[in-house]
Amino acid sequence: MSDEELRKALLQSNHKRADCKLEFIQDGVVLSNHPLFAIDPNTLELILYSDEIELCNAVGTRVKKHKLLLFYYLISNLPKKYRSVVNAINLFAVVKSEDIATYGFDIILAPFLDDLKQLSVPDGYPIHLKDGETIRIRASVVAYVADNPAAHQAIGLKESVGGALRKCRFCNADYDAMQLGFREEEFEARSLEKHLQQCSVISGATQTLKDHYRTSYGINRKSILTEFPHFDMFKQTPPDVMHVLLEGVLPLTLQALIKHYIDSKVTNLAAINSAIQNFPYSYMEITDKPNNIREGDLHGATNLNQDAAKSYLLFRIFPFVVGDSINFSDSHWELYTLLNDITEVCFASVVSLETIAQLKENVAEYLRLFKELFPEKPFTPKQHYLVHFPKVILLLGPLINLWAMRFEAKHQYFKDLKKILNFKNICLSLSRHHQKKAAMNRSSIFKGNEYGPVRHPEGEELSRMKDRISSAFGLDPNSIDSVESFQWIKLHGTKYTTDKCYLAIQFDDEDHPVFGELSGIFELNISFVVFDVVCLETVGYNETLKAFEVRAQASGITSITPDMLITHTPLAMYTFHGSSYIKLKGSISDLKNN
Ligand SMILES: [Zn+2]
Repeated sequence: MSDEELRKALLQSNHKRADCKLEFIQDGVVLSNHPLFAIDPNTLELILYSDEIELCNAVGTRVKKHKLLLFYYLISNLPKKYRSVVNAINLFAVVKSEDIATYGFDIILAPFLDDLKQLSVPDGYPIHLKDGETIRIRASVVAYVADNPAAHQAIGLKESVGGALRKCRFCNADYDAMQLGFREEEFEARSLEKHLQQCSVISGATQTLKDHYRTSYGINRKSILTEFPHFDMFKQTPPDVMHVLLEGVLPLTLQALIKHYIDSKVTNLAAINSAIQNFPYSYMEITDKPNNIREGDLHGATNLNQDAAKSYLLFRIFPFVVGDSINFSDSHWELYTLLNDITEVCFASVVSLETIAQLKENVAEYLRLFKELFPEKPFTPKQHYLVHFPKVILLLGPLINLWAMRFEAKHQYFKDLKKILNFKNICLSLSRHHQKKAAMNRSSIFKGNEYGPVRHPEGEELSRMKDRISSAFGLDPNSIDSVESFQWIKLHGTKYTTDKCYLAIQFDDEDHPVFGELSGIFELNISFVVFDVVCLETVGYNETLKAFEVRAQASGITSITPDMLITHTPLAMYTFHGSSYIKLKGSISDLKNN
């Protein structure tokens, strides 16, 4: 907090919208009714995350596996552009998984709870800054993010995988009930109040009855999370987009569709794999190029031989992969388009109430249609969780603010450490290494941009460039002392290159996004980044491919700053039957100013 830049970023940025749309966690119902945020909108929003990783100690002849449970936290008040910076994620604890069996889960979070209690008093906790000033800080856990088994473990429910009677932490549905409902209202919601009553029934029962009640309520224990101040674990342990969609619903739906297309002889696995392998991936996609799908991946529970990122990319390019052979007008393809729309809302950075209502309809229709097309395939718990997504967005804002993928990026640091680790006390070694690095990188959340091959325009080229850029931004050409040109630049973790990188720049009169191809990257006076883009004409939205058709137009180059983009995500262009298409990552329709 003595670091002025960090303090400003945390305590002086905007965390709530003035209209009815949802963008920040504070736009959701949970924080709108939160006593601390009512006193102080700059209350620190803590997102807690836990996940298990496996490290192998392969020194010598013995390979020993170490399963570790890692706890991270992120202060989500940081302006959005910094939140995906890995150094913004803090380590709370490293625990050997086997120790949880001995000592229990709750004891790990006990010190965290002690701190929280001091930070959640209305007057705040006094923090003395280096310059002698004292500020009062309030903090609250706004969400606990984990995959489903870990979330169930944390909140004390029977774990969702395997034989638990009730597999959902948001409602009381058992496996049979899950198969029948398409909408959240069809299920009885769990509530903290009722859960606490059930916990007291269990604790007051005789030993024989305890087990009966535990099974019937799906409760293992009364978790320490019930003591977290102003925290409702049934509203604030959101389903995670990465685990539920990318590692669950997307691959299982693709599996069902691919198997259908192969069984009905419109294509075969070799043709699909060949299309996947020969697809012209752009620079931002190539590391996530999907693996070949094996015959065995078409049967049983599957991730289609993909990880989360590959699965997401395969889903996005699927229309272009199978498009030559399949019938786009049948109800199987409608299933794809419904799931595409659901996924885009889950990745949207701003969501309106109308979009949430539409999401609810799309989820109900996706589930109904899946059941109709694949009656032999029962819904998995992950498919069922979709019915709770609209409510979770109302409670906590866009799901993308809470997703696990950014925390997973942090795991790699610990996995890479294993080569230099002392395994004698592995938890201590990992946390010491991490804290040293964190101290070294204390301000690196805001560190400068990375960029590659630098060129210094000169003479005629330089003066033309100065004129164009200064007129675009209303600058005095003489105020531009230096211009550097780059082939690529990395801004807050996102890489832009001048090689087939497409950007959503603004909306046109018909509210379609206008895209442009990045043609130049400049930095003026070593501080002001400018993108040159060649604008494309947006022909319209193709509802079948779920992508915007674009074509070249005879307009010149436009200069913009990265902050002017509608979305910071660089996009790829796909060619299909002679036309060009750009597919969004996350719906942008609610970013329009109306
Ligand atoms: Zn449920």
